[in-house]
Amino acid sequence: MMDNSNLIREIKDLQAAKNAIIMAHYYQNSEIQDIADFVGDSLALAQKAVDTDADIIVLAGVNFMAETAKILNPSKKVLLPDLEASCSLADSCPADMFEAFVKAHPGQTVISYVNTTAAVKALSDITCTSSNAMQIVESLPRDEKIIFGPDRNLGNYIKSLTHRDMLIWDGACHVHEEFSLEKILELKQVHPDAKVLAHPECPKPILIVADYIGSTAALLQFSKTDTANAYIVATESGILHRMQQESPYKLFIPAPPKDSTCSCNDCRFMKLVTLQKIYDCLNNENNEAFLDEALRLKAEKPIRRMLEISNKLRLM
Ligand code: SF4
Repeated sequence: MMDNSNLIREIKDLQAAKNAIIMAHYYQNSEIQDIADFVGDSLALAQKAVDTDADIIVLAGVNFMAETAKILNPSKKVLLPDLEASCSLADSCPADMFEAFVKAHPGQTVISYVNTTAAVKALSDITCTSSNAMQIVESLPRDEKIIFGPDRNLGNYIKSLTHRDMLIWDGACHVHEEFSLEKILELKQVHPDAKVLAHPECPKPILIVADYIGSTAALLQFSKTDTANAYIVATESGILHRMQQESPYKLFIPAPPKDSTCSCNDCRFMKLVTLQKIYDCLNNENNEAFLDEALRLKAEKPIRRMLEISNKLRLM
């Protein structure tokens, strides 16, 4: 076993030799974020996957992210450091059940979160992320009937803001479901000036007490530009590393989970990735994402549609 500094050097050498890029999600451990060429949320990772000219993409994230990168880059090798890195939200929406749900409600436009398998994307008209869900919904005509899946908390939040006709799949993420309202309120008593930042995948009672609600990227941006000195952060704990880097003199407190004996505000799937696994998959070029071409083509359409809308809005 190499120590971390040797591992990092070896990874960098392999990257240069193989023209590989390491892309990491904000929920990765700090040492993974620090060696990545690019760190972002799901939307930014999908956008970067379109832009990169690397031959190999190492996706330090979870399975659906590697799949999304492969869908957008069929000619490239996309490697996932740990094949067990699934996602409880994606798992809460099995494709066969989602297909039956869609068929039971014909004529509705299907919006699925990117946190889904390729098979669920292939059943969708358009994908979204928490960064652009609102714009994607609002890009549709006002009277359009919408099926939204799989996150019920994000779906209900967007429905409450847009007042659209949305039928929502009953799925959730194990991290965002577990925050304790009681403990957040206790923390507020100890830090009365701290603002509560919450991801819209959190249940409604947490969103009600939040001072700011937004995607991971939006929470990061808010924490940089806002004038408060302390924040209680109700999303996966990995983002605190970047928040602290961007605002070294501010205090960031992870929102506690209901069960104080577990570290439930760590995504157990994201945290499977290690430097050693990144080195191994890059060295051996294994753990490659593969997709049936017919499925890939079907799953690509809703992602491209999302990217078109997002890019158009970025340019406006
Ligand atoms: S934090 Fe939740 S939604 Fe994100 S990858 Fe982990 S399980 Fe999936």
